[in-house]
Amino acid sequence: MHPTDLSTAFPDYVIEAICEALPQMDRKIAGFAMHDAVLTGVEKRTSSPIRVRRGDNYQSVNVEGLYPAGEGAGYAGGIYSAAIDGIEVAEAVALNMVGTKAAT
Ligand SMILES: Cc1cc2nc3c(=O)[nH]c(=O)nc-3n(C[C@H](O)[C@H](O)[C@H](O)COP(=O)(O)OP(=O)(O)OC[C@H]3O[C@@H](n4cnc5c(N)ncnc54)[C@H](O)[C@@H]3O)c2cc1C
Repeated sequence: MHPTDLSTAFPDYVIEAICEALPQMDRKIAGFAMHDAVLTGVEKRTSSPIRVRRGDNYQSVNVEGLYPAGEGAGYAGGIYSAAIDGIEVAEAVALNMVGTKAAT
């Protein structure tokens, strides 16, 4: 860890957003914006840098019976998108089991 002034690491609009957000969060969570608080990390969007390709039936394009799903397979970037993708893939698996093509 290397302590630094975040204003030297981010553009002004990011710093302004952080300065605006911290007092607002402090109103929701008392003590969130303590005067001597240290930001130890800045969360950013991260998700799988790869995508395991799948067809219209949600199956892998080259491994029959494999259903790539969720974040690790490259189809989600958070809780909701992972959940929704999981539902869609589960439906595709169920449809495949009863011999019906998934609607796209
Ligand atoms: C620190 C952190 C904070 C986050 N905060 C947020 C947030 O605030 N909001 C948000 O929307 N998203 C957040 N996310 C992202 C979110 O958690 C993920 O995008 C989401 O959980 C992905 O869901 P998933 O089902 O695709 O994968 P996972 O939840 O990772 O599920 C994969 C599952 O597969 C299992 N598994 C792995 N290998 C095998 C194997 N060989 N055999 C059997 N099982 C196996 C694992 O044990 C795991 O249970 C955060 C992620 C992290 C790491």
